[in-house]
Amino acid sequence: MSENSYLPLLEEMISDQLVDRGITRERILEAFRSNPRHLFVPGRSRQEAYADRPLPIGSGQTISQPYIVALMTDTLDPAPDDSVLEIGTGSGFQTAILAALAGRVFTVERKGGLLEEAKKIHKKLGLNNVRYREGDGTKGWKEFSPFDGILGTGSVPEVPEPFIEQLAEGGRMVLPVGDRRQQRLTLLEKTDGDITRRESSYCSFLPLIGKNGWDE
Ligand code: SAH
Repeated sequence: MSENSYLPLLEEMISDQLVDRGITRERILEAFRSNPRHLFVPGRSRQEAYADRPLPIGSGQTISQPYIVALMTDTLDPAPDDSVLEIGTGSGFQTAILAALAGRVFTVERKGGLLEEAKKIHKKLGLNNVRYREGDGTKGWKEFSPFDGILGTGSVPEVPEPFIEQLAEGGRMVLPVGDRRQQRLTLLEKTDGDITRRESSYCSFLPLIGKNGWDE
């Protein structure tokens, strides 16, 4: 995709896939503008980067559908000073959107190759508030906890206990919980030590493989 030829496609994606479906917070839309999705899509799929669906990124994984990234971000609603933990870096697209909105982002990816690619793209974009770890993110990242926000971009059978422990007071967590085929986007909030839980849209994510996720 040449220099600016993506701009009309990006704007069309924002209006048709995000705004028309209820994602209207300007700071979120702006994060999609400053992180053009085609930069995160490798190979031949790049031409389809603004399509309304997930796309392959290699290693058998996918970059999520733009609307899903926007919906999860909108549900998490990170504040500028927040520290956010993301599990499943993948292409690094959701990571970059979070980095544009939150103070610091901690992202964990199981596949080293994907993590390296994501780092390179972030470097090009000049992101400097992201910390990376290769490993099993279903254990969270205790060292940098508590987190104001936790976002899981792969499915889990149940909310991992470490996520609950590592969530800050007043913090929010968004992740797909269900079976391997279908899940519900689940929002958890911690207030006065109590957890409230709300389930919303049905969705279908790739699995998080690990101690508190699925077996390979
Ligand atoms: N947000 C990413 C979604 C990638 S799909 C994007 O839009 O590009 C889910 C990702 O979770 C995959 O990259 C997969 O390798 C990773 N993953 C699976 N199990 C994991 C685990 N236990 N810890 C960290 N990452 C994991």
